[in-house]
Amino acid sequence: MPQYKVAIVGAGPAGYFAAQALQNLQTADLSFSIDMIERLPTPWGLVRSGVAPDHPKIKTVSKVFEKVATTEGFSLYGNVELGTDISIEVLKAKYDAVVIATGSALGKKLGIPGEDLPGSISAAEFVPWYNGHPDFAEFKPELNCETAVVIGAGNVAMDVARMLALEPTELDETDTALHAIDALKNSLIREVVISARRGPEHAAFTSPELRDLPKLEHTNVWMSKAEIDAAIVRAGDAPEKDVKSNLDAMLLIAEREATNHDRTMHFHFLATPKEIKGNGRVEEVVFQKTGTNETFSIKCGLVITAIGYEADAITGIPFEKGKVVNTDGRVAENLYVVGWAKRGPSGVIGTNKSDAAAVMNLLLEDLKEPKPDFDFTSLITTNKVISQSHWESINAAEIAAGEPHGKPRIKAVSREELLSLGGL
Ligand code: NAP
Repeated sequence: MPQYKVAIVGAGPAGYFAAQALQNLQTADLSFSIDMIERLPTPWGLVRSGVAPDHPKIKTVSKVFEKVATTEGFSLYGNVELGTDISIEVLKAKYDAVVIATGSALGKKLGIPGEDLPGSISAAEFVPWYNGHPDFAEFKPELNCETAVVIGAGNVAMDVARMLALEPTELDETDTALHAIDALKNSLIREVVISARRGPEHAAFTSPELRDLPKLEHTNVWMSKAEIDAAIVRAGDAPEKDVKSNLDAMLLIAEREATNHDRTMHFHFLATPKEIKGNGRVEEVVFQKTGTNETFSIKCGLVITAIGYEADAITGIPFEKGKVVNTDGRVAENLYVVGWAKRGPSGVIGTNKSDAAAVMNLLLEDLKEPKPDFDFTSLITTNKVISQSHWESINAAEIAAGEPHGKPRIKAVSREELLSLGGL
């Protein structure tokens, strides 16, 4: 029976869904041996480092990943970096197929003056910081100010704003990194402005996230009824289903009786950022009222841009406009790409399932004679490799550490601590 060896680079949702699709394509006459390579000592990608910790239900998809990982023929090689510990050329030469599933980790830039001032950061730094990503353990967001401005009207902007505007004790029962809970408890931020360059009818939020906002118990959520009413008029009699659902959810927020908590999330639409100003650090953001020549500014000490992501380039793989150059997931001979690295940063976690399955069907069509077997560890330059069983030890230790505190887990943050929990 032919057995093909496939390397999947990146242990996030797209990588696991690609592995699952390959497992589903196996027959009595065809099987896959799948090696998943991940640069961090921990798998799950965005599910560990991206999803907001106050939304634990979204993380239950990790059960699917663990089922894939414990299916015969699957191996995890964590703490192994493509480009450092192994090259793409070696992978392509040894494996029958290589699948890139490395996501998009870099925050897009606004390209306006003042963007690099201290106090102006990207969600691509803030989100992994509060989620305990090892690369952001030393990151220090500016929380010593009254007002923060979040730029962007997507779900990431919403996550970031919520994390800043929540009563931080609400995070005690989550898996938010301990360093972030401490910092947020000391934060002086009481007003978080979410600014959107277009109107409410064009916001990229999804309605379940909007509908969750009125459930916040310690945060005022403010939207202007006049702004939402005007958007409903502009959207016309037959808006698309998603637009209508968003506008309905926003109207509910705008029409709610005002609450009087310490902390406020304030939505500001039709505000195009023009400049970030300040003397040595962020002091205000200057906006143009979209569609007019009018400008106005909001005083703040922290600006977080949440305007999308780009893939980080990997030597030997063609990148353009923040994505791997590909046609329907095919990159070059025996090289494929799935997930955000393929299509850009769009869609929810589940979107990657059908996306990866379609690419794995093409991979199947392209297969030739299986290549000879080999030993993966002889190809790499590191011996501190996290296997599935090492990861299971880390996972169990984190969950056990969280249990007495009513948390789903306490994340180990540094690589050293993670490796030691894994027994390495
Ligand atoms: P997104 O949904 O594409 O939103 C990006 C936002 O940034 C848009 O409002 C966009 O406005 C704005 N923007 C882009 N360039 C800008 C600029 N130069 N100036 C001002 N605003 C600018 O991206 P995202 O929030 O990063 O989310 C990525 C994906 O992950 C989305 O599919 C999202 O739904 C998903 N996600 C889901 C969840 C969840 O399900 N809970 C949580 C987080 C993320 P324009 O529309 O005007 O371009």
